Parts: sequence; C-alpha cells; structure tokens
Amino acid sequence: MSQSKKIAKVDNLCVACGTCIKDCPFNAIEIIHGRKAKIDLEKCVGCGKCSKICPASVIEIVTREVHDEN
Ligand code: SF4
Ligand code: SF4
Repeated sequence: MSQSKKIAKVDNLCVACGTCIKDCPFNAIEIIHGRKAKIDLEKCVGCGKCSKICPASVIEIVTREVHDEN
C-alpha cells in the first residue's frame, strides 16, 4: 500500500534566513550547517505556510509517495 502526502521542498537557493522556521506551526524545519533549511519529513504536513512567507520564494509544496509497511 502506498499513499501520497504533501510536503515542503526547499530549493538550493535557500539563503538560510530562518523566517520559515519561526512560522512553521509543526516545528518541522531546521537550518543545517548554517546554509540551508531542511524539512523534517515526519513532521511536515504540507500546509504551505512556509512556502508563502519565504522571502526568497525557494519552498514549493510537492506530492510525495509514502509507502506503508503494513
Ligand atoms: S524562509 Fe526561505 S530562504 Fe529563509 S531559511 Fe526558509 S527556505 Fe530558506
Ligand atoms: S509546509 Fe507547513 S508543516 Fe511543512 S514545513 Fe512548511 S509550514 Fe511546516
């Protein structure tokens, strides 16, 4: 069984400003190596809030296949 899930995806042009981290209601974003925002695939629900507020417009919401182990 598999299902699709919406999830945020950060482009490499992220400037690591941290704006998205403050606005994510699910605490699903962190900056790695001080260079780029990284989305926690388990926590992100694809709400799109980060994508709207990113000043560099580098977050898009994509659909990802999730495979169910059961
Ligand atoms: S708001 Fe945009 S540019 Fe800033 S850290 Fe998040 S993804 Fe990167
Ligand atoms: S789409 Fe929503 S839940 Fe996912 S990282 Fe962005 S603000 Fe957080």
